[in-house]
Amino acid sequence: MSILTQLVAELNAGSLKVVDLSQPLGPETPVIGLPPIFGASPGVTLDVISHYDDKGPGWYWNVIHMGEHTGTHFDAPVHWITGKDLPDNACDTIPARRFIGPACVIDISKEAAKNEDFLLTPDHLAAWEKAHGKIPAGAWVLLRSDWSKRTDPAKFLNVRDDGAHSPGFHQETSEILAKLRDVLGVGVETVGTDAGQAHTFTPQFPNHTIMHGAGKFGLASLRNLDQLPPTGAVVIAAPLKIVHGSGSPLRVLAISP
Ligand code: MN
Repeated sequence: MSILTQLVAELNAGSLKVVDLSQPLGPETPVIGLPPIFGASPGVTLDVISHYDDKGPGWYWNVIHMGEHTGTHFDAPVHWITGKDLPDNACDTIPARRFIGPACVIDISKEAAKNEDFLLTPDHLAAWEKAHGKIPAGAWVLLRSDWSKRTDPAKFLNVRDDGAHSPGFHQETSEILAKLRDVLGVGVETVGTDAGQAHTFTPQFPNHTIMHGAGKFGLASLRNLDQLPPTGAVVIAAPLKIVHGSGSPLRVLAISP
């Protein structure tokens, strides 16, 4: 059997499964908030064009309106100033091959339950690699925090007077993943790929700064990472081919044992 014939056979037999890593996308989808001096990204609105009615007796369709970075979404390198001059840095120019890679799932759910501002340090990364092997080039590194189980949008965004509180990556860990491990990118369950307090870090928003400056990608607002093994799954995360798009909502799928 060829690899692809075997893939289909194993999907049909259930020995491989497709895990949907995406949140539902609709008006209730939580959106990141920025200080009012900055432009705001709107949430989802759906306007009906027709619904089997006078506007279209036999068909139903909607107009969708939202920011590129809404719900489960992809961050392209051009999203950040550090990646703005890189080649093939936008949704329409990234080679499609780079949307598919093996998943390395790092479980920080216990740490994040105790400390909402938990950051994955190089020591944590080293411990994961000792247990599961070195992260291969071209991997998606997914941070399982169980944050997606916070179904109340206020608890998910977790904003207090001093800003949002949610886990993320220590900047040295982002450096290692981007430059020494040469990952495709990182994925998180939180609303963005930086920790909630990353506006107070130096540099600000280090994961975006480092990853996108190195031509790497981000995936935000993932779910169901608890259904994936630490290694062995393959993730397909292909954004809409928006011309010069900085990112896009997308359906993230994992093929998993
Ligand atoms: Mn984003």
